Amino acid sequence: MTIPFLDLGSLHESIRKDLDGAIARVLDSSAFAGGRYVKEFEDAFAAYCGTDYAVGVGNGTEALWLALLALDLPADAEVITVPNTFIATIEAISFAGTTPRFVDIDEATYTMDPKLLEAAVTPKTGAIIPVHLYGQLAEMDPILKIAEKHGVPVIEDASQAHGAMYNGRRAGSIGLAGCFSFYPGKNLGALGEAGAVTTNDPDLAARLRSLRDHGQSRKYHHDAVGWNARMDGIQGSVLSVKLAHLDYWNTLRQEAAAQYDDLLDGTNGIVLPYSRNKHGHVHHLYVIRTSDRDGLAASLSADGISTGIHYPVPIHRTNAYGHLNLANGSFPVTETVSAEILSLPMYPGLSRDQCERVADRIRASVLPAGKPS
Ligand SMILES: *Cc1c(COP(=O)(O)O)cnc(C)c1O
Repeated sequence: MTIPFLDLGSLHESIRKDLDGAIARVLDSSAFAGGRYVKEFEDAFAAYCGTDYAVGVGNGTEALWLALLALDLPADAEVITVPNTFIATIEAISFAGTTPRFVDIDEATYTMDPKLLEAAVTPKTGAIIPVHLYGQLAEMDPILKIAEKHGVPVIEDASQAHGAMYNGRRAGSIGLAGCFSFYPGKNLGALGEAGAVTTNDPDLAARLRSLRDHGQSRKYHHDAVGWNARMDGIQGSVLSVKLAHLDYWNTLRQEAAAQYDDLLDGTNGIVLPYSRNKHGHVHHLYVIRTSDRDGLAASLSADGISTGIHYPVPIHRTNAYGHLNLANGSFPVTETVSAEILSLPMYPGLSRDQCERVADRIRASVLPAGKPS
């Protein structure tokens, strides 16, 4: 019996009739590009996040890119984010014509270390993008305080945190804007590519709607140079169906995470994930640390258990960002953990038996004594 890293098939089978119905409604109406089903989803998702607006786009990378473009930053602007994230966060900064500037992460939460943020702010700082990684929000209060002091907008990368909470507020409702990916494997995933930007700012929402649709407010009347970044009608329709299940699915993830926590508690040689608040963490991923990460991954794989690494190469050490000339040692926490983190199977519906098998196998593996570095 193998244990997959993620099981989308069973999840979709559980709501198959509703998904078929959602696709059929779009076929019946021919509202394929944008249109009423996208609008319905935008309204429902904004209400869910607790924001006034949500603007549907083609994917999460476009959500980040268009949110930055909508800020109209000067050409020499810098955008601060973390090197421990999916590369899309940084690509958006590059494609908005701005320069990425990194701050290291906090070792407990793997998100932006607010203690290091202020030193990275310069007169050129145009925006700050904390990334809510693995299902947990970055430490937003101190980040917002520093941002406000310097008059810099905060854009949340909430692509791994649909439904996650921070002091009573949902991911995507805390900064000036929240950027979401609905890539199929995310906590809320489309049946293809999709994304959205949430905000309470009506002007920002209007600029985003224009940017995603060739800068037009009326058909063929173009007020600005935009792009085609509309959400597909089918994705909007399907996402409305799936949104209704998001809280339940997040609860199932939290239950699986609590089982891993229980079963692995006190195991020599591994560090378990830290949750600032058990109810606020939606466990997009369940990430442990061990100094023989590759050995453990191989041992689990030999037993039919799939794992992942998020992410093996810090962004400043990728070939794509070699031109930034950021040597090894620039961001020591990110660099250290990138060699030690391992994502265990995690998805809604992961059973107690499956968690037990994973935990048994981890305990049976040869782990170096003591905590990793
Ligand atoms: C998935 C993801 C993105 C990009 O989303 P796409 O929909 O794949 O373009 C951006 N940031 C983070 C943190 C992500 O996990």
